[in-house]
Amino acid sequence: MVTIQAPVEIVTPPKRYPAVGRCVYCGAFSNNLTKEHIIAHGLAGNSLVLPKASCTSCQDHTRRAENACLRHLWWPFRTRLGFPSSGKQTPTDFLVRQMKVTKLNDDGSIEGYDKTAELKVEPTEFPLLFLTYKFELPGLIIGRDPNAGINIELMLRHNESETRKYIPNDKDGIRIAPMDKDSFLRMLCKIAHAYATAELGFGSFRPELADFIRGKILSQAWHWIGSDTVTPAPEQRLHDIKWSAPTVDGHTYVVVSLRLFSFIGAPRYHIVVGELTRPIAQLPFLDQPLYTIDVKAPLPLGELVQIDTRSGAAAI
Ligand SMILES: [Zn+2]
Repeated sequence: MVTIQAPVEIVTPPKRYPAVGRCVYCGAFSNNLTKEHIIAHGLAGNSLVLPKASCTSCQDHTRRAENACLRHLWWPFRTRLGFPSSGKQTPTDFLVRQMKVTKLNDDGSIEGYDKTAELKVEPTEFPLLFLTYKFELPGLIIGRDPNAGINIELMLRHNESETRKYIPNDKDGIRIAPMDKDSFLRMLCKIAHAYATAELGFGSFRPELADFIRGKILSQAWHWIGSDTVTPAPEQRLHDIKWSAPTVDGHTYVVVSLRLFSFIGAPRYHIVVGELTRPIAQLPFLDQPLYTIDVKAPLPLGELVQIDTRSGAAAI
């Protein structure tokens, strides 16, 4: 059993920005604007709060995307580490869905499987594992054709002995979590857009992602959204975030770089939120120092190992 100092206790003082007074996503003025947790409360508590910043309609969209990540993709993981929960009851059990792989593709990915068992376990008995996506750098930054596709990888880190309990043999597997890439991307865009607005002010950039955040399709997603291809080493902190204003082909853009779960060695995402509309001379700097969200107790850095998601040992 891994010893985890749960619940996670954030020691970085909460940062509360001045109220915006209109919806940062659709621009609406309304009497019912709610405060935005720039990084969802369930991931970062009250670390970064932007008051009076979202209308109820936009909130529905951002909440849906965040729920897909917080209440599905990362739910057992968050529960295990005791992440803040917003009043909803903490789960008392999780289902471990065991399976047997029946057919593998040539590249090692899973083609077919049979369900073998479903075990109801306490949250502490659910294997500690973390799953996320790894992309390539945003096309705009590296000058890639805006319509080009990219190679998307899954990153899975887990506690081997805990997982092995439910995956005793080759070709055995467990179903980890439903993955919803669009919701994941939408959550990244929402954090980046809200953070850039909080730091630089409403109207400081021409928003490229606001419609996507509000549920529309983003046809050239990889032009604007991406991650480092080489993932930096784990760092003893919860999350980090910063903005920068690089100039590409004579245009200056606002880019937010975000690393959720730095302690696991998760990827750092880079999101181009739009072209800067403020004079560059007004910016306090072109490259903000990294803003870190730190925790009190050490987090289980070395206890999660990377798994080859194509080995057939685990399935999604
Ligand atoms: Zn709105």
